[in-house]
Amino acid sequence: MQAFTYHAPRSVNEAVELLASTDGKSVLLAGGTDVLVQLRENLRHADHVIDIKQIPELTQLKTTADGGLSLGSAVTCSQLLHSEPAAPYVALLDAAQIIGGWQIQSRATIGGNLCNSSPAADSVPALLALGAEVEYATPTGTQTCCVSEFCTGPGKNVMNGQGLLVSLKLLPLGPTSGSAYERFIPRYEMDIAVASAGAYIELADDGTIATARIALGAVGPKAILATQPADALIGQTPSDELIEDVARQAATLATPINDMRGTIEFRQQLTYVLVKRTLHTALLRAAGQVVSHHPR
Ligand SMILES: Cc1cc2nc3c(=O)[nH]c(=O)nc-3n(C[C@H](O)[C@H](O)[C@H](O)COP(=O)(O)OP(=O)(O)OC[C@H]3O[C@@H](n4cnc5c(N)ncnc54)[C@H](O)[C@@H]3O)c2cc1C
Repeated sequence: MQAFTYHAPRSVNEAVELLASTDGKSVLLAGGTDVLVQLRENLRHADHVIDIKQIPELTQLKTTADGGLSLGSAVTCSQLLHSEPAAPYVALLDAAQIIGGWQIQSRATIGGNLCNSSPAADSVPALLALGAEVEYATPTGTQTCCVSEFCTGPGKNVMNGQGLLVSLKLLPLGPTSGSAYERFIPRYEMDIAVASAGAYIELADDGTIATARIALGAVGPKAILATQPADALIGQTPSDELIEDVARQAATLATPINDMRGTIEFRQQLTYVLVKRTLHTALLRAAGQVVSHHPR
């Protein structure tokens, strides 16, 4: 690995100033489970590594005044999985508990998973389904955007190497709501999703669907918010036929590539199956059932 200067700033401002003053020759380091691998394999080069874990606000996880959830960008998967305020955000927990194994989860952050901006990143469809927004700091000030606008392509995001992701804000959950995330991976290969889906459902008092969000992962250059299929659920009484129909619509939005892990047709079929499953699970969870795919 190329030699670099290590920095451990104590505030967001200090980190952003360092980033700006090192003129594109620095990388931010959270858990390091992506970036250290990239540096070691010479896929990236940096004269300066800026470790953000010493910035207190980035490791905070708390309920917001409106009842939502705020996650500092350096909150680890493990911290999330053991936190009470995060417990109702089940789709994100589904994702966090399949990112690598326990060792990776104790280092890997949700912010790093998003900033690495892989189309197959497990947390991203869950964040989309849960209506997450991000706040990031740049030399010219703080900006916010929806997670759906944050990633711009494989390995790319709106910060363009010039910003520091500060926090993620997840919307408050409805009183009768459920969410889920699932992925497909071939057991004999690397643990990255061949296709994945996240879903959120909120039921009205009369049992009809009041709010719905569906997200697709690993079937396009970035995760996809399947808005139209989700809107088709609104005002409807949940049924197997409705879910089947919406899952088929969602699969038409998948624009996957052919590669050694799966063909286009296989990934489209997987998308249909995973959307169907996550919608079913979200509905069961909204009804108060405990559905666990990955018991710890
Ligand atoms: C063995 C192994 C298994 C894995 N399995 C999975 C898996 O199953 N699913 C999956 O999705 N991923 C998996 N990963 C990838 C990885 O663990 C995740 O992407 C992780 O969440 C990244 O978080 P991190 O804190 O380690 O990020 P880092 O490696 O520290 O950073 C990742 C990128 O984001 C940037 N960055 C980090 N924080 C910020 C910030 N606050 N602001 C701006 N930029 C920032 C860094 O500069 C870097 O470009 C695996 C990795 C390994 C090594």
